[in-house]
Amino acid sequence: MKQFKKVLIANRGEIASRVIRACKELGIKTVAIYSEADSQALHVKKADEAYLVGPGPISGYLNINRIVDLAVNTGADAIHPGYGFLSENPKFPEVCEKRGVIFIGPSSKTIAMMGDKIESKRLMKSVGVPVVEGSEGGVESEEEAVAVANKIGYPVMIKASAGGGGKGIRICFNDDELIKNFSLSRSEAEKSFGNPEVFIEKYIEKPHHIEFQILADNYGNIIHLGERDCSIQRRHQKLIEIAPSLILNEEMRVKMGESSIKAARACNYRNAGTIEYIVDKYGNYYFMEMNTRIQVEHSVTEIVTGVDIVGEQIQIAMGKELDIKQEDISMRGYAIECRINAENPRKDFIPSTGKITAYYSPGGIGVRIDGAVYKDYVIQPFYDSMIAKLTVSGRTWEETVRRAQRALDEYVVKGIKTTIPFQLKIVQDEDFLKGNFDTHFIDERLYLRDYKLQKDPFDRILAISAAIAAYYGI
Ligand code: ADP
Ligand code: ADP
Ligand code: MG
Repeated sequence: MKQFKKVLIANRGEIASRVIRACKELGIKTVAIYSEADSQALHVKKADEAYLVGPGPISGYLNINRIVDLAVNTGADAIHPGYGFLSENPKFPEVCEKRGVIFIGPSSKTIAMMGDKIESKRLMKSVGVPVVEGSEGGVESEEEAVAVANKIGYPVMIKASAGGGGKGIRICFNDDELIKNFSLSRSEAEKSFGNPEVFIEKYIEKPHHIEFQILADNYGNIIHLGERDCSIQRRHQKLIEIAPSLILNEEMRVKMGESSIKAARACNYRNAGTIEYIVDKYGNYYFMEMNTRIQVEHSVTEIVTGVDIVGEQIQIAMGKELDIKQEDISMRGYAIECRINAENPRKDFIPSTGKITAYYSPGGIGVRIDGAVYKDYVIQPFYDSMIAKLTVSGRTWEETVRRAQRALDEYVVKGIKTTIPFQLKIVQDEDFLKGNFDTHFIDERLYLRDYKLQKDPFDRILAISAAIAAYYGI
């Protein structure tokens, strides 16, 4: 085992702070990188060392050679990639290896294989993990697309092979829609991922998105930490995540858990990863994709299992053997994560930027905040809109939902638009409380956008002071 002394974090935002926290608990020093636009970011203030990588707001975070150089020059033993940015770029671990820096994640080969949705589906099918019915590989022409769709039956989904973040996905109900969307999907895929390849999949109606968290060490030990239900989505992107799922019984959990371990073994998986499934209303499950990195919503699993997933990632990379056995894992109570995004839900979730003029985060029993902002922080237009995560926990589902309501009500962010009041409407919804939801929950409920804006508890005091000041002419 190689005890790390220093880790470089090739990321920003809340995940950079999350990794710094894990390093501190393990007695490891941290190196942050930042762009000029991020000079006031929290991760820069929290790390032991921080270096400007540039020139633009994004390019520095994507500059493999510069980042690995920095790791070498600062004496860092390893690099944590976080999520997004370079985390799923197979070149990154390759360059790390060449320069003698440990990449905290799976091998370059595994990332490349699982990053290609077509290849990964093929692999899963070959080892007996159920996959969604669809095209055998990429679809090159409209004619081929129509033929596949007519064979499997509408509705179908066009998906980008290199897709991610909900981008490049289109639902088609008939030949006309398919023909219209086919070239649009290809050009969108080319633009977003530099690869136009698309494939076709049967569109599963009223499904749940259920995913399994995996931990695999360097010695072939693989366990799963149970599932998360990530069905509350907007634009095929998660907004609220829950552990455990309300729709899985123990038998399904065991079966899907075993499939997940099989999937991880098939791609020689190492470190933390997630197997995503779509589950239909009859309880059939199908592999969708694997994310070969830490995920945003890992916090709900940490809470219900008590396992520090980021801490485990680092220790696995140090060469420690997993000391948690599958039979040691159980999920206690419930956890709900709300992604607090700087967005305007009333205007189709358009990003909101500018200065945060007031910030009070909730606290108390069962409340965890993973944040990246503070009062006076200026939100820039260049990055992902997620500014914090609120994760609440409770002993029962009902208690956890009530806690989410209370915590969201306590959460005050002023100066920008956020998803907080919208999330509050969701967790107040009767169907949500009853566990009655699937991936269409948000789209089917336009009234969720009809929320009241939050009241700042200090507004009243400010209003009174202003009235007094006006009265005395000060
Ligand atoms: P999941 O982790 O569940 O797959 P996402 O697909 O939303 O959820 O997470 C990956 C996405 O996170 C990326 O596509 C990117 O948009 C976003 N992202 C990347 N880096 C950051 C960051 N530092 N802070 C916040 N969001 C980020
Ligand atoms: P990404 O890489 O963008 O995360 P995914 O393949 O994971 O793409 O799909 C994102 C979301 O799209 C899923 O969480 C689910 O809500 C929806 N989805 C994906 N495939 C299907 C399908 N075959 N049928 C119905 N919904 C799907
Ligand atoms: Mg996905």
